[in-house]
Amino acid sequence: MSLYKSEDTLEQVTKSLQSWKKLIVDIYDDEYDNDENKENEKNGQLNVLQKYVEEYGQIEIDCEKTKAALQKLDEKLEEKEKPCEDVDGLYRECYDSLPEPSVNHYHDTRVWQAVFEGATDVQEIHKKKKKLHESQYEELSDSLMCSNIFSPPLDPISKVVVKNAYKSRKCGHVYEFETISDYIRQMKAKAKCPYIGCSSNQLKMSDLVQDSKLQSQITQYLETHNDDSEDDD
Ligand SMILES: [Zn+2]
Repeated sequence: MSLYKSEDTLEQVTKSLQSWKKLIVDIYDDEYDNDENKENEKNGQLNVLQKYVEEYGQIEIDCEKTKAALQKLDEKLEEKEKPCEDVDGLYRECYDSLPEPSVNHYHDTRVWQAVFEGATDVQEIHKKKKKLHESQYEELSDSLMCSNIFSPPLDPISKVVVKNAYKSRKCGHVYEFETISDYIRQMKAKAKCPYIGCSSNQLKMSDLVQDSKLQSQITQYLETHNDDSEDDD
């Protein structure tokens, strides 16, 4: 009875170990392709996983062996005419007389096969990887498109192109640092985000953070459009 339960448990353990492996592969393969440090980290994780799979593989082998011994014991008990007095001894006898099991290395266990050589598993990972690569290309071309049509934002107060971009942590709106900090100094507690329709509350100096991503786009833009912007003024 309890043997079937342990098979069930092994089944569940196998599933958990499979998810664990998938997790490792997903995290490291998809996001950090060709990163040596991450590759080492991934292998470290896989080694830890491998130790567990080995351990459970050993349990599976023991479990199979016990099952076979119990089956043999059953047969022997049925053959006997008198009730058996030493069941434990008979069981031991059965266990010891078992032929060499077909599976006696953890590499051949179901647990190991399922986690490290599972064909379906590998296919799924391949598919996922391919998908991710495609979306990465999309992202790349998206960002190329963006840089082509990018135009820097205007400061809401001075209406001049933002050159030193800061944004509000509260609403994400972008301002020229000089202009917005002058404004906050003047308005003090009454200062609010100057964008029309913005519903965020009081704007303080501590709410301002540099928008480094936008800043690098602006810098790039100003480098290539230097002549144009001077003509505009
Ligand atoms: Zn705002």
